[in-house]
Amino acid sequence: MTAVADEIQLDDAAFRGAVLRPGVPDYDVHRKIWNGSFDKHPAVIVRCAGVADVIAAVKFGRESGLPVAVRSGGHSFPGLSVADDALMIDLAPMKGVRVDPDKRTARVQAGVLLGELDRETQAFGLAVPSGIVTHTGVAGLTLGGGIGWIMRKHGLSVDQLVSVDLVTADGEFVKASADENADLFWGMCGAGANFGIVTEFEFRCVPLGPQILAGPIFWPMEKSGEVLRFYRDWVAEAPDELMTIVVHRKAPPLPFVPEELHGKPVVMVICCWVGDIEEGQKFIKPLKDFSSPVADVCLPKPYLTHQAMFDPSFVPGRWYYFKSCDVPELTDDIIDITMERSLQIKSPLTSFPIWQMGGALSRVGDGDTSFNGRHAGFTYNIGCATETEEGFADEREWVRNFWSALEAWHTTVYVNFLGDEGEERIRTAYGAEKYDRLKALKQKYDPDNFFRINQNIPPS
Ligand SMILES: Cc1cc2nc3c(=O)[nH]c(=O)nc-3n(C[C@H](O)[C@H](O)[C@H](O)COP(=O)(O)OP(=O)(O)OC[C@H]3O[C@@H](n4cnc5c(N)ncnc54)[C@H](O)[C@@H]3O)c2cc1C
Repeated sequence: MTAVADEIQLDDAAFRGAVLRPGVPDYDVHRKIWNGSFDKHPAVIVRCAGVADVIAAVKFGRESGLPVAVRSGGHSFPGLSVADDALMIDLAPMKGVRVDPDKRTARVQAGVLLGELDRETQAFGLAVPSGIVTHTGVAGLTLGGGIGWIMRKHGLSVDQLVSVDLVTADGEFVKASADENADLFWGMCGAGANFGIVTEFEFRCVPLGPQILAGPIFWPMEKSGEVLRFYRDWVAEAPDELMTIVVHRKAPPLPFVPEELHGKPVVMVICCWVGDIEEGQKFIKPLKDFSSPVADVCLPKPYLTHQAMFDPSFVPGRWYYFKSCDVPELTDDIIDITMERSLQIKSPLTSFPIWQMGGALSRVGDGDTSFNGRHAGFTYNIGCATETEEGFADEREWVRNFWSALEAWHTTVYVNFLGDEGEERIRTAYGAEKYDRLKALKQKYDPDNFFRINQNIPPS
């Protein structure tokens, strides 16, 4: 037990969910988060079974004075869902999803993961725009904006968000939507971890699938320069139906990757076309015909299959590090740097995505949400992974150097891709005007900065 844990006076019977302290077997299971490079020991974990537990946990946090970490999917890159000697409020047990197929809405509790939400919505031929790895939490992803495969057609997760239920820093239960506490709702749509604990989201759903046209096309990494030059011109004409992500990595030993490529450095353009499949095939053909790809598995397939494609590349428990930036366009210089740095990748687990932005998400008004990256051209999420600590420091250095090499072209940065990078970078994520507005909102809803283990916006 930590010294702090020893002193805690918490009545376990006040909660419907489990209360876990150091020493009980489940404590070690639930203190762990996705990024294995964080090994933190909270003083106590409250596994919330419902809203009443969240209210009781917040009130206990206030009385005890313990720092409070909030966990839903546990996928924060910089480990912001757990802290040493803190109260960890764990929403993971709250798994309810209720799709209303007539109204085309979904009510989603905070512990739901992306794959769980997709499964429920796809049963009705519907989807909520979300991210690209099924074990990510809906909560943290949405509260930062939520970018993914269908955003160019249907917007960000927050663009389909109707309302949230949340528990504030005072332990009050509050609703926020465009019509109710509208200022708070604006803040929740991009900076939401700062203002309360969301217990439930309500989303609009969009019709989708079940079949889409999707998957990667591969070239040897030495061709990255020519492939990216072709790609940037081709993709500039893409309709909203198409979203692409470019990945550089050593080809993983997965069933859909031809065996002769395993371990070889490759560049892949991964497509996701969510319109008429024949039209998609026509649009994507020039890319498939360019410079003899070494493999092409961009094929009609179920949306659910494509959503799970990246899962094996981001296994929980490995050591991960990321540094991200948006760039306006893929200039020759940026392309040359990308190829040169990618050829230096050592770890077979390192894989970094370049996201094509634009489309529907860029046509939502800039001031409509606190999310601020609507005019990004491409988002670099330069990341690395190793199985354990071994080799991690070297690979992290590679990330930092690559990111610095692109510094001349940095514009915005997506808050959910930030590491532990300090206040200036958080300000960059929101821009000066939105950042000041968010500070004033924080002053109104959380003047003591009770919720501070997050990409923190201090009260004004
Ligand atoms: C493998 C992987 C893939 C990813 N893919 C994408 C992607 O495709 N698109 C994308 O946009 N992002 C993506 N991300 C980034 C992701 O959006 C963030 O890491 C997000 O914060 C994860 O949410 P979570 O609930 O899993 O995380 P957690 O670690 O549980 O929480 C993250 C942050 O949100 C706060 N928070 C959590 N729950 C609540 C709540 N209920 N109420 C208020 N605050 C809360 C926490 O305090 C913490 O600061 C990915 C991350 C990983 C690790």
